[in-house]
Amino acid sequence: MPLLDYLATTPLAFILCALLLGLIVGSFLNVVIHRLPKMLERDWQVQAREILNLPAETAAPTYNLMLPHSECPHCAHRIRAWENLPIVSYLVLRGKCSNCRAPISPRYPLVELACGVISAFVAWHFGYGWQAGAFLLLSWGLLAMSLIDADHQLLPDALVLPLLWLGLIANAFGLFTDLPSALWGAVCGYLSLWAVFWLFKLVTGKDGMGYGDFKLLAMLGAWGGWQILPLTILLSSLVGAVLGVIMLRLRNAQTSTPIPFGPYLAIAGWIALLWGDQITRSYLHFAGF
Ligand SMILES: [Zn+2]
Repeated sequence: MPLLDYLATTPLAFILCALLLGLIVGSFLNVVIHRLPKMLERDWQVQAREILNLPAETAAPTYNLMLPHSECPHCAHRIRAWENLPIVSYLVLRGKCSNCRAPISPRYPLVELACGVISAFVAWHFGYGWQAGAFLLLSWGLLAMSLIDADHQLLPDALVLPLLWLGLIANAFGLFTDLPSALWGAVCGYLSLWAVFWLFKLVTGKDGMGYGDFKLLAMLGAWGGWQILPLTILLSSLVGAVLGVIMLRLRNAQTSTPIPFGPYLAIAGWIALLWGDQITRSYLHFAGF
């Protein structure tokens, strides 16, 4: 295909293409972040009613990633296509609903912008090829699950598990590491946090983290191999400490407010996957090995 040939031979075109795609995907991720937790909750309610032999609720209106159409939460004005363009619409509308002038959260354009910039960066880092394509999917998944976890303390299996399989499949072709490393990465990723969880529970009697965190680290191990796990855990505590302090300052919250671990793991894993080798090598060099 001429277009693919062009992207393969013109790095700048590939990066710009990734930026544009990232902005559009970011717009879709806003929907996923907002709706997926609600869809899961509806599912769980239905299942719980079945198990408890309660009568099913009267038919609820369809609710999925496509329907109902997006509308303003204040005046129920249906969002038209031109009002849904990534970032552009927000700027044109000056952050307000076109009908009732109620403010629109700046988080929507920020997620779109972040997704665009991350996608362009991934395209630049890997260059045209399967590695970039696979890593884009991973980055989009990590962005969505981080924000869902931050909002709801929930890492949906519907996002984590498909990406775990995808990591193993990618490495069956040796895309990021060899398959045995990826397999043990998934196993050790899960078991290491599982062990920490039970140790913490035995000592303090409290739940320190959720099962979603184990699955997330297993997923990252499937992508980068067991070799990235120590660095990922180390970096996640570092990211957690830095962001934790910033957020405590911003929110003026008490230290007992639960801060989800998922976003830190996701950021740390993403960094370890991209620069793990360099970071470990310069550390060992610095430490005098
Ligand atoms: Zn409105």
